[in-house]
Amino acid sequence: MNKERHRPCRLCGHKCLADRTAGQVGRCGAGQTIGLAQTLLHHGEEPPISGRPPGGSGTIFFTSCNLACAFCQNWQISQTPKVGVQIEPQDLAKIMLQLEDSGAYNINLVSPTPYVAQIAKALELAKNQGLTVPIVYNTGGYDSLRALAIMEGLVDIYLPDVKIAQDPNLNLGDPDPVAMRLFGAGDYPYVNQLALKEMLRQTGHLVINKSGLATKGLLPRHLVLPDNLARTDLVLQWIAENLGQGVYLSLMAQYHPNHLLKHGDPQEFRSFPGLTRPLSVREYEIAMNLAWELKLENAFVQDLESAVRLVPDFQKPEVFDN
Ligand code: SF4
Repeated sequence: MNKERHRPCRLCGHKCLADRTAGQVGRCGAGQTIGLAQTLLHHGEEPPISGRPPGGSGTIFFTSCNLACAFCQNWQISQTPKVGVQIEPQDLAKIMLQLEDSGAYNINLVSPTPYVAQIAKALELAKNQGLTVPIVYNTGGYDSLRALAIMEGLVDIYLPDVKIAQDPNLNLGDPDPVAMRLFGAGDYPYVNQLALKEMLRQTGHLVINKSGLATKGLLPRHLVLPDNLARTDLVLQWIAENLGQGVYLSLMAQYHPNHLLKHGDPQEFRSFPGLTRPLSVREYEIAMNLAWELKLENAFVQDLESAVRLVPDFQKPEVFDN
C-alpha cells in the first residue's frame, strides 16, 4: 500500500475523512504534524515489554487519541487540546535513537494510530541511522486495516487493547451504546476484532527471548471494569476462539475512577455507577479464573495496588511513581 494514502483520513474506525495534509484537523485532533506529549523509559509495562532496570521500554506518548474513554488514565495528553509539541518525522527518528542510546529495550509508540504515515517515515530514517530495538505499537485497538497495512513490516510487537466485546443482542457492526458512552466509538468491537486478527496475521504470537524480553508478536490487553462493564467474559471467549489458546494476554486490574470523579460527566455515574469505584478483588478473581478455564494460560496479571501505582501524572517530572 502507498504509505501516503491517509488523505482523506481513514486511519481509524471513525473514518472522519479529514484532509490533514491540507491543514484540516481530524476528529481525534490530529493534523499534519506529529503531536508529541512525552518520552520516557517506562518500567511499569508488562515484564517482557519493560524488562529489568536500569533499562526500560522507550516510550513515546502521542497526543490526540482517536478514542475518548470516559476514564482515560492519560487524559492530560489524550483529551486535552494543544498539549505537547508538534514535531516532524526527522525529529521523531532522533528521539527513537536517543531512547535506544539511553537503554531502551524497545520503542513503545503509545496511541500511534493518527500518525502512522509520519511514524513510518520516522522509522525508515531511524533504522537507516542504526535503530535496532523492536518496535511496539501500543494502541487502543480502534485501528483501520489501512493503518495496519502501513505498519506491516515496520512493527515487531502489537500491544492493542481489547476494551469491550460485542453485545450479543446486537448485530456485529451495529452501534453499541455502551461502547459509545465508555470509549467514544459505537462500532469499537467490530473494528477491534478485525484489527486484532490482522495484527496476529502480521506478527504471530508473542516471542520472548532468553533475557525475558519480547522480540515480536501480539500481546492483547484487556482492562477488567467494575460490574463487568467491559463484558470480560465475552472478551476472553472471543480471544480464545479467534486468537487461539497460544496467545499471550495481559489481564489488567488497574481501573481507577479518579479522572472520572474529578472531570467526568455526572451522567456517567448514573448510567454506570460501578465506574465510581475501583475493581474489587472478587471481580478480578472471576476474570482470572475464566481465563484459566478457557486455557488462556499465557496471561500476565496485576495486583490491585497497580490501580494507584500506575496512574500517570504528565504534569510531574516523574510521570510514574515506580
Ligand atoms: S485517525 Fe483521526 S483524523 Fe484519522 S480517521 Fe481517525 S479520527 Fe479521523
